[in-house]
Amino acid sequence: MALWTLRGARRGIVTTRFPRGPEPEAAAWPTPPHFRDDEIGPELALRMAEACPSSALEVAGSQLLLDLGRCTACGRCLELAHRLGHRRPNALLATRRAGSLVISYRLGDAK
Ligand code: SF4
Repeated sequence: MALWTLRGARRGIVTTRFPRGPEPEAAAWPTPPHFRDDEIGPELALRMAEACPSSALEVAGSQLLLDLGRCTACGRCLELAHRLGHRRPNALLATRRAGSLVISYRLGDAK
C-alpha cells in the first residue's frame, strides 16, 4: 500500500488533488473502454451491461451509456465486444460535474 494512502487515511482525506502534469506511470495503467457508434447491437449491449462489475454500463432505449466515474477499467466489456471497442488512449478524468462523465453510444442493428 502506498504511503500516501496511509497518510490520507490518518488525516481523513479520501482523495488527492489532480496532478499538476502527466504522471509517467499512468501510461501503463489500463484505461476505460471506448466504443464505436452504431456497431454494438442491443443484445450485446445488454450482455456487456450485465458483465460490468461496477454497473458502469447501462442500456437506455437505443443507447449504451458508459459512466466513466464508475468504470474500473477491468476490460470485461471489451472481451465481449471484441473489435467493436478499444481502450481509451488517455485515462485522465477531471470534472466538477459527475454527469459529464457519462458517455452515450448509439446502438446499431447488429446482435
Ligand atoms: S471496463 Fe469493466 S468496469 Fe469499465 S465499463 Fe467495461 S466492464 Fe464495466
